[in-house]
Amino acid sequence: MTDAVAGEPGEVAGAEGVDLPPIVDVELGTLPLERFAEVLTDEEADALRADARVARETFSGRIVWNVNSTATGGGVAEMLQSLVPYARGAGVDARWSVIQGDEDFFAITKRLHNRLHGSPGDGGELDAAARTHYEAVLEVNAARLIERLQPHDIVTLHDPQTAGLVPLLQARGNVVLWRCHVGVDTPDEVVRSAWSFLLPYVRGADACIFSTRGFVWEGLEDVRLAIIPPSIDPFAVKNYEIKPDAVSAILSAAGIEDNGASSEPSFTRMDGTAGTVAHQAEITESGRLDAQTPIVVQVSRWDRLKDPLGVLSGFTEHVLPRSDAHLVLAGPSVTHVADDPEGLRACSEVQTAWHALPADAAARVHLVTLPMDDLEENAVLVNALQRRAAVVVQKSLAEGFGLTVAEAMWKTRPVVASALGGIRDQIEDGETGLLVDPRDLAGFGDAVLKLLGDPDAAERMGAAAHERIRTQFLGSRHLGQYLRLISDLMR
Ligand code: UDP
Repeated sequence: MTDAVAGEPGEVAGAEGVDLPPIVDVELGTLPLERFAEVLTDEEADALRADARVARETFSGRIVWNVNSTATGGGVAEMLQSLVPYARGAGVDARWSVIQGDEDFFAITKRLHNRLHGSPGDGGELDAAARTHYEAVLEVNAARLIERLQPHDIVTLHDPQTAGLVPLLQARGNVVLWRCHVGVDTPDEVVRSAWSFLLPYVRGADACIFSTRGFVWEGLEDVRLAIIPPSIDPFAVKNYEIKPDAVSAILSAAGIEDNGASSEPSFTRMDGTAGTVAHQAEITESGRLDAQTPIVVQVSRWDRLKDPLGVLSGFTEHVLPRSDAHLVLAGPSVTHVADDPEGLRACSEVQTAWHALPADAAARVHLVTLPMDDLEENAVLVNALQRRAAVVVQKSLAEGFGLTVAEAMWKTRPVVASALGGIRDQIEDGETGLLVDPRDLAGFGDAVLKLLGDPDAAERMGAAAHERIRTQFLGSRHLGQYLRLISDLMR
């Protein structure tokens, strides 16, 4: 889910000389599934316990593997970080391994990712050379995975980076599920070109999982399909409740806001120990944020499909002249997302656009690169920023699901987001947020202004948003669906 830059667009090395670092097995503890009882009805909690019981019996002696291509950055890593420990807490031996690639491999897989979203990306080819290199890298990874797997283990492969592993692991006798986290509502030839590249691999999977029904591909008529929307962990450092004083202290410690905070910038880590915000964000700005200024916030990977340039224009042209709000565009430090070669370029484009703004507009836009030295520190910074926002926006041009939307809704924030993909499953327009056409900057600006100008309506919408996430998009629902699907496949 990242972008890399190697040679001319589309120029791909052959299969020979693929030299990769070892597969990474992400170290994870266990988390108690019982925790969800706090946010579920008794009936929902009982159903989850029953799913866990069936899974424990059915999977006994088998390992349930998740395989993707980055341990940090983006929605898939975000979900695995908590779903895998909760599955372990439920008594299932769940694990997570990260395959490796080289620059050419990640350029090809980013191309696939972009095309699955309907965007040509770097414009490079998905030709025979690309296929040869893609398969060569995955053959190396498959051989290494097979050393870890028992033939009766169950494997879920995530996203285009791992699709080519389906036949290689099935040949070994494993039950293999492939999960696609991206897609578009209306496929075109660009999208279909990615499907054609990947179909020969994924067609053979024991099941294919999509985030929303509209993303299901043509050509999978003979494959077992499941629709499992993503979810958030309400107890994760990213989402747990932080009181306003702590929000101020955390934002002040990271250098994001001057607010005179006197409390310690501490937070609670997933293992229950105390953490402190110790690293500063890198910020491009010409004036400082203070505690009184309302802020409009988008937090995303630096990616053109998240449209940071569109957010910048929509805000400066349509929101800024009619409000006193500032814009905060935040994303991870660009050197840290392993499988995203385009992050650096997308981030520089936003910096360039900021430098071109008139001085009065530049003074109200803050570009924030969040430290990734400590992932839980990064998570608590995202948490604090989302809680501090008067309005959260997610003006993506394409979006598989948009965890950032669910995260903000859980925090009772009013959200303005693009009417596409899984965002439409989350937000009921006018009730639990506002949906906009991402190409209509004036419409985007009007929606943001509407929420900024009517705090009571914004508060009502935020409360409804929280309930929407509680009932539909928490990890408990997700895990239950997953355990039931795999249990069914094993029968
Ligand atoms: N995120 C983060 N730190 C950052 C920027 C983003 O942890 O500096 C997280 C964000 O909170 C969300 C995930 O990355 O949990 C992005 O998932 P989403 O589904 O919104 O988009 P994706 O990156 O998968 O396209």
